[in-house]
Parts: sequence; structure tokens; C-alpha cells
Amino acid sequence: MLKTRRLAIAVLAPAMLCAACATPDSKPPSVVGSIAAAGLSGAARHPVSAAPSSGAGHGASRPVAAKLPLAGKTVGIDPGHDGGNFNDAASIDTMVWNGRAEETCDTTGTATASGYTESRFNLSVATYLRADLIADGARVVMTRTSDHGVGPCVTTRAQIINQAHADVAIDIHADGGPANGRGFTVLEPVADGTNDKVIRPSMAFGADVRDAMLAYTTMPVSNYYGASGVLERDNLAGLNLTTVPKILIECGNMPNPTDATMLTSPAFQQQAARALTAAIVAFLTGRTIQKG
Ligand code: ZN
Repeated sequence: MLKTRRLAIAVLAPAMLCAACATPDSKPPSVVGSIAAAGLSGAARHPVSAAPSSGAGHGASRPVAAKLPLAGKTVGIDPGHDGGNFNDAASIDTMVWNGRAEETCDTTGTATASGYTESRFNLSVATYLRADLIADGARVVMTRTSDHGVGPCVTTRAQIINQAHADVAIDIHADGGPANGRGFTVLEPVADGTNDKVIRPSMAFGADVRDAMLAYTTMPVSNYYGASGVLERDNLAGLNLTTVPKILIECGNMPNPTDATMLTSPAFQQQAARALTAAIVAFLTGRTIQKG
């Protein structure tokens, strides 16, 4: 969840304003996955990614493996917030420059009425997504891989992905909107100098993400935030400071009971990851998004 719907947010929980980040000197930023770790879910969805036959026999030349759809591509994943942010207000309240204005280094994120945290959800979807992407041949860079740390700061998260020269990147969140509001929203960057070159591809990627979410999940587009599932945002470090095509997705609205049931379900989390994988494959290869 991100910090604009001030009204609803203020009513729900002042400390839960989103907008990723934590301590500037907090550590272990990036974790890179590689094809070597594959063998996970996802590959089966792409017939071209089938492994070479083991029955080639002695002396026969081994068949050349069909190229995995994301071979040679780098994907950045930023699971918003962090579980430790709840216990380190001093760190996450540090002010940082987001490219247009100051904002806090990170926030705690939101939670469902039963206390399932957004940071946990974000990391869970990110972990499923990483496995799917690696299975499809991608190199994956993540800004965090545990839910027990603090941060890193939103600015550091952007840096990690920029420095990895990702071909595309996604910030994963869930919203903390009004309890009667439902659905997902794709947040897209607005040109500010730093991100000028990636506005158009980010918008194209955003359209792929929206289409894939509708094809692969039963989560509807938001009925309270953005239009047709899309909204431009110019006050988020992750989008202001990006030099690679990137969008942020609010996968659903945690305070809404129907959305909460979906968001806390591993089945939905895996569906969302498959949707994001399909969107990434479509964006990077031109492959059509098909029904999940
Ligand atoms: Zn968030």
C-alpha cells in the first residue's frame, strides 16, 4: 500500500502508510537467482522451455535445448516493506529524497483485519515469482529475501534494481484502502528526468500486468483506486528513480474481507505470480498473454 489515499489510510492506521523502505545502512540487498536453480514451477507453461531429452544415446549428438523464454534477461523484484519495519520506527522514518520530494525511508505497509501483514504477502508472491522466472531462464534480482529485516530504504531498493541493469522490474504490494473497496491497481511512473527513458515501456508493461492479472486470477480491477486498474504516481521513489522499465502493483485491498481471503491464500499468491510471469514474458518477448 502506498501513501496517497491519505484519508482512508489515516483512519485505518497512521503507522501503516506504505511506500517501501527502511534503514539506509541496512544490509543485504540484492539476491540473484540463476537458471542453475531452476526446476521449479512455471517451465511447464511454456512448451518451448522443455529440457533436452535424456534419451539421446551414446554417440548421438545431444539435441540443442530449446531456448527458455527469459534466457539472458534480468528481472528485478521489489517486495515492498519488511517485517522488521514494525519494530524500528526510527530507521524507517528517516527522510530520503525520492526524486521529487522527501519521503520516509520505508513504511510498515498494511495488514488484513486478522493481522496478516502486507510485507509477508509481498514476499510470498515475490518468492513464487522468482521461482517461476528462474524456471523460464531469467536472472532475478530481489531487494529482500526475508521478512525479518528492516528495509532497505526505497531509494536503495531502486538502486539495487538499476545497478543490476534489469530488463524489467516490478514492485509488489497490496493496498490498505477502504474496507468496502476491492481489486488491484497497477501504478505507473511519471516522467521526472531520471526515469524519462522508461516511461513508455513501463506503461506498456503495466498494460501487460493488468491483462495478465485479469487472465490468470479472479481479482478484479480496483473499484476505488485508479481507472481500469491503472494509476500514474509521481511521488514514489521506486518509480521516480527507476532507470529500468518498472511498475508497482497493489495486488488487492487487504482491509476488504473478500480480497483478504484471496490475498492470504497460497493458491492466489501463486496465481498472481504466474500472472506477473506471463506479463514479464509478454513484455520481454512479445508473446501473447493467454488464459492462465
Ligand atoms: Zn505497500
